[in-house]
Amino acid sequence: MNVTADLSGVISSGMCIGCGACEMADGSVKVQLNPRSLIYEPSSAGGAAAAAVCPAVSVDYRGLQEYLFPGAEAGPYGVVRSVHLAQSTDTERNVKASSGGLIKEILRSLLSSGDIDGVIALDHVDGIEFAARLVTDPDDVDNLPGSIYHNLLQTPALKLLRDTPGRLAVVAIPCQLEGLYSWVRANAPELREKIVMTIGLLCGWQYSHHSINAMGEYLGYDPADIADISYRGGGPVGKLTVRTRDGSEYSASRRVDFGYQVAFDRHFNTTRCHVCVNHGNFLADLVVGDAWLPSTVFTKTGISLVVCRTPFSESVLSRLVSSGACIATRVTDEEIRESQTDRVVFGEFAYAYAEHLRRLGGHVPELRGPNEGHGTPKPRRQVAKFHRELVRKQALMAARRYRYMKLRKATLELRGYVMRYVRWFLVRILRVKSLSGRRREIPREQLSGFR
Ligand SMILES: Cc1cc2nc3c(=O)[nH]c(=O)nc-3n(C[C@H](O)[C@H](O)[C@H](O)COP(=O)(O)OP(=O)(O)OC[C@H]3O[C@@H](n4cnc5c(N)ncnc54)[C@H](O)[C@@H]3O)c2cc1C
Repeated sequence: MNVTADLSGVISSGMCIGCGACEMADGSVKVQLNPRSLIYEPSSAGGAAAAAVCPAVSVDYRGLQEYLFPGAEAGPYGVVRSVHLAQSTDTERNVKASSGGLIKEILRSLLSSGDIDGVIALDHVDGIEFAARLVTDPDDVDNLPGSIYHNLLQTPALKLLRDTPGRLAVVAIPCQLEGLYSWVRANAPELREKIVMTIGLLCGWQYSHHSINAMGEYLGYDPADIADISYRGGGPVGKLTVRTRDGSEYSASRRVDFGYQVAFDRHFNTTRCHVCVNHGNFLADLVVGDAWLPSTVFTKTGISLVVCRTPFSESVLSRLVSSGACIATRVTDEEIRESQTDRVVFGEFAYAYAEHLRRLGGHVPELRGPNEGHGTPKPRRQVAKFHRELVRKQALMAARRYRYMKLRKATLELRGYVMRYVRWFLVRILRVKSLSGRRREIPREQLSGFR
């Protein structure tokens, strides 16, 4: 049971993720952008009601899993019924989407079959502002954006859930669902009935708005002039594309552009991402992510990794396959691990970093997921070094010294930067793990129908 009195620790530690649960539970709190850190945070500390539902204070994973999937057993990947690789058979939809175009296919199917009356999903508002809106027409689903990686205020999703009658599906990142369900369970249990299905995104991290500002300096746009921004689409990795109000377009490859590697380095993440243990979205009925596997590197359009946690989510996926909207093949839980890495899936860095922050004193969210104890926590020396770097780089960001950060990456940080590519090449392309017998790849013929 969480006994924190208010959100003062969340504010002082900069751990807010913008889910908006505190605003819903405590009318005295407003979530707004901090002009220095460029992440959302509560304007005031509020009281115990706000703290009780805040995922930057604590998340009761065990209780929430029992609340959502009663009687199901949670393993290190949460509650898992089955894991699949899947892809939309509509090439255009697949190419436009972030990975396999699965989410759009699922939403279209849920709406056209009458399973639900509406979907609450993120859409573009203006500039770099995105907010949840209600979608009721299957043909409107394709207007939704792909993955948006910067920190957002997610309160509109909670308000829509509260104010919209009928049966709903919700698309959300993991921490957003942590806030949503903590608030629903504590303050609005009647809303649980409305949620027919949650479609979760796997999530490694999100970024503060400093990333967008830094890219502005590197690519030559003024962040104040942004009309629209997208991070994915056009292939499995995709590119960052920024359109400004005068019609100009600026883009950068997410895999090779050096400026992108600087501005979307993990030190630019929202602080809580570093202690997040729930990248696999333990609370979503069906989870979609990228299949980053040696056996899927051939794809030109993107393939999704899909985790089904409920019988209904499995039936929706098999309906999509039967109707020809998607192709899918069942794989083992091991593919979650391979695609996401142990560091992420088992919170190897997050648990060790949280421990380090506890030793330093100050506020640390209490996050103990079903994956705790399944990986090898990163050594103390490594997390201590990361912390020193983070403090230094957050100060550089606050001072808007983005050009200096680029120079730093090209000199002081060059070794780590190069090693990332070397690791990627060894594991994904040369398949060293399968060559050394540590892993069995998915047979090529099992993926023969995929693009
Ligand atoms: C912040 C973030 C981090 C991610 N990190 C990883 C990762 O580390 N590994 C991995 O495998 N996959 C990650 N993903 C998921 C991946 O990028 C794809 O979103 C996922 O594979 C679904 O692809 P799709 O082609 O089916 O969906 P798309 O057709 O691209 O649809 C995306 C859907 O997600 C919604 N959406 C987009 N951004 C957000 C957001 N910020 N908050 C809430 N809803 C949103 C949109 O409304 C849309 O409905 C991340 C996604 C996000 C948003």
